[in-house]
Amino acid sequence: MHKLAGIPASNGIAIGPVFIYQPEAPVVEQRSIADPAAEVARLDTVIAAAATDLQALKAKTEAAVGAEEAQIFEVHRMFLEDPAFTGVIKEAIETSQINAEAAVSQTASALVEQFEALDDEYFRQRAADIKDIGQRLLRLLTGAGGSSLAGLARPAVILAHDLTPSDTATVDRHMVLAFCTAIGGATSHTAILSRSLGIPAVVGLGQEVLQLAVTDQLIVDGGAGEVWVNPDQDAINAYEQRRQEQLQGQAEVLSHAHEPATTSDGRPVEVVANIGSLADARQAIEMGAEGVGLLRTEFLFMQRDTLPGEEEQYQALRAIADVFQKRPLVVRTLDIGGDKPLPYLDMPEEQNPFLGRRAIRLTLAEPELFQVQLRASLRAGHERNIKIMFPMIGSVSELRRCRAHFEQARAALAAEKIPQAESPEVGIMVEIPSTAILADALAPLVDFFSIGTNDLAQYTLAADRTNPLVAPLADPLHPAVLRLIRQVIEAGHAHGKWVGMCGELAGNPLAVPVLVGLGLDEFSMTASAIPIAKALIRRLSIPQAQQIAVECLKLTDLEEVEQFLSKPF
Ligand code: PEP
Ligand code: MG
Repeated sequence: MHKLAGIPASNGIAIGPVFIYQPEAPVVEQRSIADPAAEVARLDTVIAAAATDLQALKAKTEAAVGAEEAQIFEVHRMFLEDPAFTGVIKEAIETSQINAEAAVSQTASALVEQFEALDDEYFRQRAADIKDIGQRLLRLLTGAGGSSLAGLARPAVILAHDLTPSDTATVDRHMVLAFCTAIGGATSHTAILSRSLGIPAVVGLGQEVLQLAVTDQLIVDGGAGEVWVNPDQDAINAYEQRRQEQLQGQAEVLSHAHEPATTSDGRPVEVVANIGSLADARQAIEMGAEGVGLLRTEFLFMQRDTLPGEEEQYQALRAIADVFQKRPLVVRTLDIGGDKPLPYLDMPEEQNPFLGRRAIRLTLAEPELFQVQLRASLRAGHERNIKIMFPMIGSVSELRRCRAHFEQARAALAAEKIPQAESPEVGIMVEIPSTAILADALAPLVDFFSIGTNDLAQYTLAADRTNPLVAPLADPLHPAVLRLIRQVIEAGHAHGKWVGMCGELAGNPLAVPVLVGLGLDEFSMTASAIPIAKALIRRLSIPQAQQIAVECLKLTDLEEVEQFLSKPF
């Protein structure tokens, strides 16, 4: 028996046989072509097909794992629209008069080489992304078909050079005992997806891991980053016992998912879910959500050709409200624009869509659309606990205008004698630095704040959250963002208003102690994150969490914050 050491990527122990995954790279030959325009058209067809496949993978991953993990497929799809990638491929076809396969292969290889040469984990990840997209295009162009892990005959530990997001998304999780890869880091896609799927993983094991034989047996310890090859019976027994203990630990966390999250000294903390469909609503209940802190209503408007009417919206919202009964359901008004255009709405092309007419700016410019949505939401809230939330509020006057629309919808329903929510709370998302800074002026005009750290981080740190080249800069653990969060919570509390958070940070186990310490009242997150967040909260006392927050808020650099919060408390 011998040991291979790698990087811990996803906790858990697996014991079992090996499956060596070596996807066949499509064979590419360069040919001269006579009609570059026809070749570009052939490439365009394939790009469109790849975009459709990526959309399907995104939807599948979103349903099985979560929106955040699915985002990588959106990033891949965006690469397909990036002139620095597909534009260069087309140029190669036109100027060198070569076939699309050769142009894709050469362009992707050149980009991969450039990214790999940079001494930075982040850019190495982008290299892996480009490789994945290049292979996807080549498989479609050559008709090589998909190489996949979907058809494993028996449960096994998957050994691979690296795994692409497409590989990990298509696996049958019951057949995969663990992932072991030669390359990769703790934040690689394999690592992130394995964690969300609950599959143990060790990455960065070196090429040696690919020399193992199909007859070998392995023990994989994802938490320690260790792989034992052909262990003796004593080792198998010891690890099997630990595996059982870990499974019990997970089952234990899940078994308490439906209990309240009360700190060890007795303060209850509200843990609710972010949802975007009726299916999400049901999953949220299963995972122990005490309500909904963010219903993204965009789903009512997507994948269709016309605006949904009041009745249709009412029925959909009512179905979701029925799932939660008297539990709180925060309905956010439409947050379209930015990276979420609506093809059937006349939206002008914008240079910087995230700084453009998105979210509340767009709804305020479309009063009819706003009224229809407010009326549908208020109607769905009749005898239910609906709250209304406006996204992307940037100023006091903008909030006043929203409140006027809200009152108009209420008055109209009352005049028409249509049943509606009795006195729904009205709140805003804090997503723009100006709003965080002016929180004390906004607090008297709202019932609650919900901090949207996804956008607050991108606007505070001037880093587009969807641009793979800079998205990691938009990290909500950055001290500047943490200080804004503190300011918002303090301003809300000073005016007797509750403060929640529905950005991804709320469900990040690293952040939970500091947010409890800052006094956050409501944590809203992807349903799958709820059981662990609740367990973490139960282990903390308020003075201990406050101490963590005080220490953490003294730090001035992101890396210091990450290191500080990674220590066990
Ligand atoms: C946010 O910005 O943090 C948020 C929750 O809104 P969305 O992710 O929908 O933009
Ligand atoms: Mg947002």
